[in-house]
Parts: sequence; C-alpha cells; structure tokens
Amino acid sequence: MRIVAISNQKGGVGKTTTALNLAACLSQLGVRVLLVDLDPQANATSGLGLAQEEGGSIYSALVEGADPRQAIRSTRLPNLSIIRSHQELAGCEIELAQSGNHLGRLKDVLTPLRESGHFDYAILDTPPSLGVLMTGALAAADELLVPIQCEYFGLEGLSKIVSVVQQIRDCGANPNLVLEGIVMTMYDSRANLANQVVNDVRNYFAEICYQTVIPRTVRLGEAPSFGKSIIEYEYSGRGAQAYRALAEEFLARRSGAAQAAAAEESPA
Ligand code: ADP
Ligand code: MG
Repeated sequence: MRIVAISNQKGGVGKTTTALNLAACLSQLGVRVLLVDLDPQANATSGLGLAQEEGGSIYSALVEGADPRQAIRSTRLPNLSIIRSHQELAGCEIELAQSGNHLGRLKDVLTPLRESGHFDYAILDTPPSLGVLMTGALAAADELLVPIQCEYFGLEGLSKIVSVVQQIRDCGANPNLVLEGIVMTMYDSRANLANQVVNDVRNYFAEICYQTVIPRTVRLGEAPSFGKSIIEYEYSGRGAQAYRALAEEFLARRSGAAQAAAAEESPA
C-alpha cells in the first residue's frame, strides 16, 4: 500500500476535490483505494455521502487508540473505502501534541492497514494548515501530491511546502518522502493569467508537474453537495474526464518508474 498525501497549506485549492475524485477514478480502474479524511471539516467524508455517524473515525484511531481497521467504511464504489473524519479532530492538535509522538502517530495507525494487503493506495486528504495533522500526514506518506490553483496566488506557498518536505526528511521523521507531483486545478482557459500560471509551473517543475490540468467546472463544484464523486455525478463531462485522465497519468507514472527500477536492477 503506497501512501499518498494530498497537501497544500493553502485552503480552497482543490485538495479535497482532488483526493476524492482521484480516489474514485483510481478505484474505477480496478485499484483498491482507501481514502483517509484528515480534515476536521470532513468535506471528503460528506462529499462521498457519508454522514457523521457513530463508530470509528480517524479520530478514534489517532487519539483514542481504537483499531483503525474497525474505522474502514465501504462506499458505493466497489474498490473504494474510506476512513471518515470527525469534527472532534479539530481539538486533537493539542491532544496529539501532548502524546509525545505526534509526528509518528498517523504512520503507526496506518501500519496495520498497510500490512493487511487490502489496499493498493491510501490517499490522505489533509487540512489547510501546517499543523499536527498535515505534518503527521507528510511523516506517514510515501509520496506527496500538491494541488495548486491556476491563479495569481496559486504559486504562493509552493516554496513553503517544498521547504516543509525538506524539513520532514531532514528531521528523520520521513527521510524517503517524495514530492511526487503538482496538479493544477480550477483552470479557466478564458483567463490569460491561468495560462501563464500553467506555463510557469511547467517551466519550474517540469519533472513533477502533471500534464493533466483540472478545469474549473460547475459540476465539479456541485457534486459534493449531492454526496457524489464526479464520476457518479456526471459520466462524461469535462470534470469526470479530467479526473479520469489524472488517475491514468498517476498509474502510468508508477508503472514507468517501476519499469525503470527493474531495468536498473537486472544486469545488462
Ligand atoms: P481544499 O480542500 O483545498 O480546501 P476544495 O477541493 O474543497 O479545496 O475546493 C474548494 C472549493 O472549490 C469547493 O467548494 C469545491 O467544490 C470547489 N472546487 C474545487 N475544484 C473545483 C473545480 N475544478 N471546478 C469547480 N469548483 C471546484
Ligand atoms: Mg479540503
């Protein structure tokens, strides 16, 4: 199970929309995905139509020490499971900070899930601040995917997250964390500025920038209020097509990387 954090300390950049819809589209491609909602606002949870029900959540596993396997819920999509958030998570910054192992706590919680072999990917939706939950996600993740908005302030903060990744590596919390990708979201082709931002990001981050750009569409904004991923809300609209393309590119990158590693290992 590869753990992929979807993070950016800025709010409203498309983290939750990307986490939820990437997870849904990957699951449709036959990949077994666990979506973990680490944001106390629980937008990924409600965006998939799950209510704040009784029982396990990421809060009960992180703070109360409950078995994380008990917190896994299935969704309408066959290969997609979720560990929902809980509003109590908002208070857990202090509780976790006092526990002495706040950076490593989420990693410990995810370990039995990794070992269970039930999932190919865990996708972590993180809150918009550099608090315990986001840094814990970066400490637990194999890879980081950063959504940025195709707007003037979109690039702002990218250098911050790059330096946080470096800090997480250097402090020993997660030496192998990889900044795997940047996804540009809410692209409006009519705005000159959006095109400029796309060009800038492609120039500066050529290696890791996804070719797929997510357009701003009404339906991507509407779908969560119906508790649906975009592929359940519209079958072939632009938003669904974009997130399908993103999921395909996500998998293609990995099979490319795996082939390269295998070629390196096998003697010529
Ligand atoms: P974050 O998780 O980074 O705070 P969200 O994914 O919740 O950001 O997106 C912020 C708002 O913008 C939400 O209301 C969401 O529905 C909307 N939104 C996100 N991506 C798009 C898009 N591509 N097109 C239209 N609306 C979008
Ligand atoms: Mg969010």
